[in-house]
Amino acid sequence: MLTLEQVKAKSAKRLDGLQPVVKAAATALIERCYARGANIVITQGLRTIAEQDALYAQGRTKPGQIVTNAKGGHSYHNYGLAIDFALLLPDGRNVSWDMNRDGDGDKVADWKEVVQEAKALGFEWGGDWTSLKDYPHFQMSFGLALSALRQGYQPTAAQVKAAYAVIDKLKGKVEEDMSKIAELETQVKELVEVVAGLTKSKDVLKDQTLQQAVEIKELGTAILELTDTTPPAWSLEAIQALHDTPSVINGHPVVDMPDKVTKTEARIFTILHRLGLTAHLKGGK
Ligand SMILES: [Zn+2]
Repeated sequence: MLTLEQVKAKSAKRLDGLQPVVKAAATALIERCYARGANIVITQGLRTIAEQDALYAQGRTKPGQIVTNAKGGHSYHNYGLAIDFALLLPDGRNVSWDMNRDGDGDKVADWKEVVQEAKALGFEWGGDWTSLKDYPHFQMSFGLALSALRQGYQPTAAQVKAAYAVIDKLKGKVEEDMSKIAELETQVKELVEVVAGLTKSKDVLKDQTLQQAVEIKELGTAILELTDTTPPAWSLEAIQALHDTPSVINGHPVVDMPDKVTKTEARIFTILHRLGLTAHLKGGK
């Protein structure tokens, strides 16, 4: 995932020369779009009048396709009041103008999210124009027509102050969103650790189960062998010793054993012994 710093660095040069309030709004736009999962890069900011004239010549007096209907002084870019953007792809290098792209998978086209954020920050959108729509274009005209700008009119201090107020309010929200994102990232990290722990326990349990299965199989074999064979002498002796020593229940001797040890008894004892279940019989008596 790209960091906000990486995303901002992509646009840094294009923000130079913009009116400070437009630069602040463009910066806030990059941040807000980042927080929404729709990264952008500013592809055009200030365009000097000479640059605009050169662009206007393209497809008219110079080769190439017509890309603008604005001569020098006839674009808000010429006054540092406009920006153009493109979607920045996750590789941090390539860009897209696909207006239907939904890179963050939230069912809202990234382009639409950017437009929403830009308008909230006080930008006018070129996609709202009735003639010759300019979808990647945002501007802050402050109610000044291009003819007024050509005559040297500037936004008033009050207008700029009001624009900053809108930007600052939304910037505060971005910081809130960013801290929420950081919090979520921490939670995800913790969950990943828990899952890793559970996976490990699962593996341990699996190993234990396999081990037990092997033991049960071995015991089964041992039992099968014993049922067909004569019990070992030591088990006969041990059972006999038990017969000779009366059991005691609640302080009363219980004598209900046959005098002689049977082979079945001895075999059962042998099995119990091999299962490790006779320790208290041998030690206790
Ligand atoms: Zn533009």
